[in-house]
Amino acid sequence: MKNNRLLIAPVFIPHEGCPYRCVFCSQTDITGSAFQADEENVLSVLKTYLYPTLQSDKFSRREVAFYGGSFTGLSDERQEFLLSLIKPLVDDGRVDAIRVSTHPLFINKKQLERLKAFGVETVELGIQSTNQEVLGKSGRPCSSADMLSAVSLIREYDLKLGLQLMLGLPGDNENRFEMSVADIIGMKPDFVRLYPALVLRHTPLFSMYQKGVYSPWSLERTLGSLKNAVKSFGIADIPIIRIGLQPDNSLRDNFVAGPFHPSLRYLVDCRIGLDLMVDRILSLNRVPERVAFRVPMKSVSIYTGNRRENLKILKERFSLEEIKLSGEEHCRQLELVA
Ligand code: SF4
Repeated sequence: MKNNRLLIAPVFIPHEGCPYRCVFCSQTDITGSAFQADEENVLSVLKTYLYPTLQSDKFSRREVAFYGGSFTGLSDERQEFLLSLIKPLVDDGRVDAIRVSTHPLFINKKQLERLKAFGVETVELGIQSTNQEVLGKSGRPCSSADMLSAVSLIREYDLKLGLQLMLGLPGDNENRFEMSVADIIGMKPDFVRLYPALVLRHTPLFSMYQKGVYSPWSLERTLGSLKNAVKSFGIADIPIIRIGLQPDNSLRDNFVAGPFHPSLRYLVDCRIGLDLMVDRILSLNRVPERVAFRVPMKSVSIYTGNRRENLKILKERFSLEEIKLSGEEHCRQLELVA
């Protein structure tokens, strides 16, 4: 069977090249890296993540990523130094491609030409929001024109485009987030990542939170908006490759407040599963006393809900005597069977 797994070996360049400090960002805390990546660090990432996989067929593709800063905001020398550590591995086939994350303000033809020349295939842009008030209050002003120009240049250079979006930033609300989702869909990225704003120690957002000028969104509010976003990206056929920050020790140590959950994606999928079951029941002329669903085996936990929550909600909402849910190997989608 063909293996489609992608290995990403992450080299963190915390906060390097950033034009300003976004209120939510504490790259040191998120990445656990407090140093500036040098040759030794890059080699150590390769030894840890890449080299052990080279003889195995576990991954069909291997990439090295520069994350945690604004890569194209680094000086020319620094970019070339970092890229030149990986380029020989791209040339001899041990690495398939390089990916970088950066800020829309640092995308121009010269930067993209260099990225292409060194084997970069994917550029991830931190958009976070397309609402100007949200961006201003979050310490990362960036006009829509700048975002669109960066996106179209990346396309012109035939690079893959990933966009990152955040919800619950200062000044954000459900409508503004929904508009941001629509704007991002209009940019036609190859993939997106979605993150809820969290209050972490040592960030400007932490000070705002302490002074009472910022309140993080509740988990409930976050799930409601993420659910709608996932549906919209699904309709647009845009893959979401991550929802929520990786729950590593560094994040756990510095987390102060906000809608953190180690399985955020699962909770969102459960909400979507619940909506689908509600729609099926509402489509009946008369709600029966007993309801049974057949679902794909791999989706049983999504439809059942976290701690069987979905089944309890359905039972109560429709005053059901009984609700059954069975997972079946050959079932491809949710079916109401009684
Ligand atoms: S641009 Fe990215 S890395 Fe830099 S401060 Fe903002 S969120 Fe952090």
